[in-house]
Amino acid sequence: CGIVGYVGHRSALDVVLDGLRRLEYRGYDSAGVAVLDGTGGLAVERKAGRLTNLEARLDEVGREGFAGTAGMGHTRWATHGAPIDRNSHPHRDVTGRVAVVHNGIIENFATLRAELEAAGVEMTSDTDTETTAHLIARAYDEGDTKGDLTASVRLVVRRLEGAFTLVVTHAEHPDLVVAARRSSPLVVGVGVGETFVASDVSAFIEHTREAVELGQDQVVVIDRDGYTVTDFDGEAAEAKPFTVNWDLSA
Ligand code: GLU
Repeated sequence: CGIVGYVGHRSALDVVLDGLRRLEYRGYDSAGVAVLDGTGGLAVERKAGRLTNLEARLDEVGREGFAGTAGMGHTRWATHGAPIDRNSHPHRDVTGRVAVVHNGIIENFATLRAELEAAGVEMTSDTDTETTAHLIARAYDEGDTKGDLTASVRLVVRRLEGAFTLVVTHAEHPDLVVAARRSSPLVVGVGVGETFVASDVSAFIEHTREAVELGQDQVVVIDRDGYTVTDFDGEAAEAKPFTVNWDLSA
């Protein structure tokens, strides 16, 4: 439902929670965050219910593990799987290095799930989303896309049917967030020494008004210096820059 991703110089947890709060008006049933700590750690918490439930959970486990400056968050509107903790996003692969948040529906998830289960992967949720975390981790570990997170994301999104915005982080790439979209909204926010991705500009307009609207079937990689857009095959692609000029007080 709502998505925020961030790479910059501030606390990613604060930026992401603020962004999710600004997207709350859309309605949701669960929320979650992932933060890269810069030393190979990827901290994830997610919780059914309001954002305040997630924040209470973060206070309970302690926010020390969430001190990094890159991360992402999600508010879920369940389509596949009940609105319970283990179906909340982010979803991770079996090794916990890849985390994914997703808006929309992956129509062919049952086929992908069967393929993963046949390969011995044990699912931990009832969602359509979880399959993508496992597929991206496997693409990252083997073949032509080995060690290349963006190429791994491209390989996997080419296999997906349906409407989706996917945002992906990998513990071994603490300076990057990768996102892809098909028939579901995705905008980039370009700040000074910080870059955002979101399902809606309201998630980042308190930080920057410089935005870029991703086109159909595009992948964007953000780091603190900016963004790079390609199509699903890796060819350079054009996305549309614009300035958000509506009033913040609304
Ligand atoms: N289909 C996914 C799920 O049910 C994502 C739903 C959403 O857009 O929030 O988990």
